Amino acid sequence: MDLKMDALLLRAADYGENDRMVTLLTAERGKLGAAMKGVRKAGAKLRFASQPFCFAEYVFAEKNGRNTVTQASLHDGFYDLRTNVGAYYAAACVTEACDLFAMENMAAGPLLVCAVTALESIEQNLDAPNAPLVKFLAEAVMLAGYPLSAGDCPVCGKKISGRRFFDLRTGSFNCAECAVGVPASESTYRALRETILRIGGEEVEGEEHAEADGYVRALRLLRAYISYQTDADLPALSQYISL
Ligand SMILES: [Zn+2]
Repeated sequence: MDLKMDALLLRAADYGENDRMVTLLTAERGKLGAAMKGVRKAGAKLRFASQPFCFAEYVFAEKNGRNTVTQASLHDGFYDLRTNVGAYYAAACVTEACDLFAMENMAAGPLLVCAVTALESIEQNLDAPNAPLVKFLAEAVMLAGYPLSAGDCPVCGKKISGRRFFDLRTGSFNCAECAVGVPASESTYRALRETILRIGGEEVEGEEHAEADGYVRALRLLRAYISYQTDADLPALSQYISL
């Protein structure tokens, strides 16, 4: 039976003479593996649909539990991402995180929407992809069921000022007196606080805006948090941070 679904390409691996195996993120079935026959031939009709970050409507033929892509119609190829190495790696962090957090045979609509929105936002901010990447990772972490907060100290309840700490077990910042977890800078806290407020649809006051440096630090913190919670390496994120 044929299946038709919107999907984002997370990764592709060559096999055989001209074929590729692709891993896609779908709203209906989460992560889905499929073969794409002949797509490495020059001029192959479906070549575009086996490229990084392709977001398309894919048609699959399902046989003996295996899927083969038979058609695809493009929604967005995010081709501008290829013009900027930083933006390209930031986008690779998005698909890497989707690959980590999405499961097979589990609905993943919200994650797919977040990922496509993040790629659009990175493509529109080619020279400054940090803030959209932090926003995506924070959203993806929370969608995957890991808590993340940047409010008052959850241990003593006081407003946090000066030195602060981030508890990798609970995903929250706490004050210098309670001092649970790893040291974190104020700029990291501000960047994550602003991000979490934005995700919640709240406005951020002008003077509270986080500095660019805070977003870089927030990426390091999110990498540590995701690794702590999932035991996974995030090679694309590590590479992006070291650019
Ligand atoms: Zn405290």
